[in-house]
Amino acid sequence: MKILVTGATRGIGREAALAFLEKGCEVIGVYAHSEREADNLRKSGIALYKCDVSDKTEVTRLAESVGNIDVLVNNAGISLRGLFQRVTEDEEKALYGVNLFGTLNVTRAFLQGMINNKRGVIINVSSVFGETGGSMEADYSASKAALIGLTKALAKEVGPSCIRVNCVTPGVIDTDMNAALTIDEVRELTEEIPLESLGSPRSVADMITFLASDEASYITGAVIRIDGGWKT
Ligand code: NAP
Repeated sequence: MKILVTGATRGIGREAALAFLEKGCEVIGVYAHSEREADNLRKSGIALYKCDVSDKTEVTRLAESVGNIDVLVNNAGISLRGLFQRVTEDEEKALYGVNLFGTLNVTRAFLQGMINNKRGVIINVSSVFGETGGSMEADYSASKAALIGLTKALAKEVGPSCIRVNCVTPGVIDTDMNAALTIDEVRELTEEIPLESLGSPRSVADMITFLASDEASYITGAVIRIDGGWKT
């Protein structure tokens, strides 16, 4: 199976790329900035492409180089924390550019190949905040809610072409995205989570590889929460 994971250099995407590699898949990782991490992953056998997913021209070039794929994991994402009233237009453009338009760009670039093959799986990485909303993360929550709508709608549209589209909504996962949290904030969050810890990137990666597998062959349009019971 040929798999493409966006945002493969760090966190959840890196773990998903490695998990697919362990399963014997051909893995293509996409990244935007992290050269050192990309070089390390290349050594493990993952093909790495530098491509800003928010840039349609770069994504078109990526699709031309990579060709058809079996599984697309739309994982690349950035966060934006702050009071809604203080968010600037540039910050908003950057956020939706990666989280929403990045997913749209990459999906559109690879979907036709899947339709032609009558085979494919798309997994979107949303967030629990896309379902519940996160205070001080209104734009982030909106961008992730959009991915849930996209997942459900596209699952209906491309189901007849034998393409499954699903979405995972992680809670607080222990990655660079949460590196700015203080020890006290981590403690407070952990106290709110029934399973009493932040999630590991592997816990999300395992669900992603499951959704890509034949064991999930009757699952589409699903939104699967991985949050240790935090927001359930
Ligand atoms: P992370 O550790 O910050 O990694 C983000 C990845 O996305 C990096 O590999 C980064 O590549 C890539 N990326 C960022 N902008 C990009 C762009 N314009 N084009 C291509 N790649 C780009 O984040 P993470 O925590 O693993 O998050 C992964 C996904 O899970 C995101 O969509 C995030 O919103 C979602 N999520 C995370 C959590 C959490 O608690 N961590 C919770 C819910 C949902 P470079 O390093 O090369 O820029």
